[in-house]
Formats: sequence, structure tokens, C-alpha cells
Amino acid sequence: MAAVVLVTGGTGLVGKAIEYVIEHEPAGSRFGKKPGETWIFASSRDADLRDPEETRKLFEKYKPTHVIHLAALVGGLFANRERKMTFLRDNMLINDNVLHTAYLQKTQKVISCLSTCVFPDKVEYPLTEEKVHLGPPHSSNFGYAHAKRMVDVQNHAYKEEFGCNFTSAIPTNVFGPHDNFDLKHAHVMPALIHKCFLAQKNGTPFKVMGDGSPLRQFIYSRDLAKLFIWQLREYDDVEPVILSVDEKDEISIRDLATSIVKVMKFDGKAEFENEANDNGQDRKPASNEKLLSLIGRDFKFTPFDVALQETATWFLENYANART
Ligand code: NDP
Repeated sequence: MAAVVLVTGGTGLVGKAIEYVIEHEPAGSRFGKKPGETWIFASSRDADLRDPEETRKLFEKYKPTHVIHLAALVGGLFANRERKMTFLRDNMLINDNVLHTAYLQKTQKVISCLSTCVFPDKVEYPLTEEKVHLGPPHSSNFGYAHAKRMVDVQNHAYKEEFGCNFTSAIPTNVFGPHDNFDLKHAHVMPALIHKCFLAQKNGTPFKVMGDGSPLRQFIYSRDLAKLFIWQLREYDDVEPVILSVDEKDEISIRDLATSIVKVMKFDGKAEFENEANDNGQDRKPASNEKLLSLIGRDFKFTPFDVALQETATWFLENYANART
């Protein structure tokens, strides 16, 4: 039977990157489109997945054999901190509807997208797949984190009771074209790109919240897309896989801001507002050892500066239509 791959959240940062890779990699190659495959990229306009009936209709319309489940209420530190209940409930509803409908419709495989926010706040680094449930998540985003963490519980329960082939991916911070560049509610990198753009345009200082010390691992959305396609085709186990660059590729917010100044050609420097309580978690390095041992150590990640430049260029070329 020909595969029909439904990507929920197909119009977001990660969904658009999967669409790009499927269209641009050579057909039939490891990450390109295979003969007989149909890919559907669904948005909330196709179905509000918080609603069980709309979810059922979406699945009945496309009859997916495989699902990459990306749809989620997503936001940066400040959005998560302000709307914990909304992040918890919307994401729990979306995940429950997608997984239960996939079970009822006998979907062959579902990969759901978690986040490194699911990991305990107090845990020995680096983060590895078996540490997800070892303690409570960081308080700043516990609504989102608990909803995502529950997907791993659901995957195990669906497998044990009904034999479902459900699994999950845990990406670190993602960036790339089609990101949300909203100044208040976006993740740190797109928000800084937008701030830097405005500082350049208005001749004002480029101010960065926090003291610049936290470290983060960023993965380019188009690299992440390849890893999802690999996981869809080549990985059949319920346990999650961390999809990330190497631990040694952690970068500080200070260095990130400096790189953004460079790619945006800003005539000035980033200024840090120096309040450590605006920082979020100091660092949360994740290991990509399991990933590399499975996909192969020759998998090529895009160099950070190239990926950042592509993202900034996309933002500048699409400013009128980007999520700002
Ligand atoms: P985006 O915010 O860019 O996109 C979210 C997608 O989900 C959009 O397609 C949106 O549709 C859809 N969506 C939101 N709410 C609903 C709903 N109620 N019903 C149906 N669809 C809905 O997210 P990302 O691409 O950044 O994130 C994709 C996945 O990756 C998420 O699960 C997220 O938790 C995870 N993740 C993201 C990280 C990041 O740094 N961005 C880091 C780690 C994990 P529409 O376009 O119509 O609004």
C-alpha cells in the first residue's frame, strides 16, 4: 500500500522544513520523496486538533498510514511563563486527539514531537533519552513540559495495550525559515533577529534581555527535517530519540547575539540588560549519541553560521509576510 504521510503542524517552522527537504532532496534518496508516497502538510485551518471531531474528519479525509505529529501551542520563555494552563490544556487536547484517532484508524506509525523542556530541571547533564521522567521540569514552562512529557507515557501505554507503533522525537532549540519572529512571544533566536532588524532600521540600541550567559543547543530546521524523515523510515521503537547537534556545539546567548549582529549587518553591538532572572535555565546540554549511533556518524549538520545566515536572509526577504 502506498504511504500517506500526514504532517500535523505542517505549516510551522518544522513542518515547512520537512516540506522543503521532501521537495528539494533527490527523489528516492534517503531524505527525498519515495515513489508512491503522498505528503500532506496540515495547518490549524484544516482541523483544530483540540477538537476530537475535527481531528477525526482530518484523518478520515486523508487516511494517513503515517503521521509526523508536530502541531502544538509553541512559544518562548515569556509566553510559557504567562500562560501555563493554556499551554498545558491545548497541548494535552491536541496530543490526545491525534494519538487516539491514529489508534482508532489503525495508523501504522506516529512520531510525536517533544522538546528538551520535558526533562527534569535538576538532572545530571548531558540529557539522555532515559532521563525524561526523573524529576519535575523547570517551573517556567511546566504546563507545556508536562503535556509533552505525557506523550511518552501515552506512547508506551498505546504500545503495551494495543500494540501501536507510536514513538517520539526530542529536538533541542529549532531555528530556520518560517519561524515565529514575534518580539514578545517567539523563541530567543527569532526574537533577537527581529529586535536587531528594528534597531538597525530605527537607529536604536540592540537590547538583549538577561545577561547573555545561558547556553543553548540550536538545530537548523532543515537538518531536523532530515532527522524526522530518517526516524519515520528507519526507526521503530517506542523510546524517544534526541534530535540535536553535538554537545560541544552549545552556544551562549551572548555569542548568538554577536553572530546575529554580523549576519544582520548591524552597525553596533548587542547590549545586555544584565538581569540574571530573565535568563531561564542556565544550560541543558543534550546528548546526540543515540541518534548518531543509529543514523550514522557521517550525518552532516549545516554549519551554524550558514544556517543563521539563511534564516536571517529569509526573514529579510519575507518580512512583510513572516510571523512578526
Ligand atoms: P510553529 O509554532 O512554527 O507551528 C505550529 C504548528 O502547529 C502550525 O502549523 C500550527 O498551525 C499548528 N497548530 C497549532 N495549534 C494547532 C491546533 N490547535 N490545531 C491544529 N494545528 C495547530 O511550531 P514549530 O514548528 O516551532 O514546532 C513544531 C513542533 O516542534 C512542536 O511540537 C514543538 O513543540 C516542537 N519543538 C519546537 C521547538 C522550537 O524551537 N521551535 C523546540 C523543540 C520542540 P497554523 O499555521 O494554522 O497556526
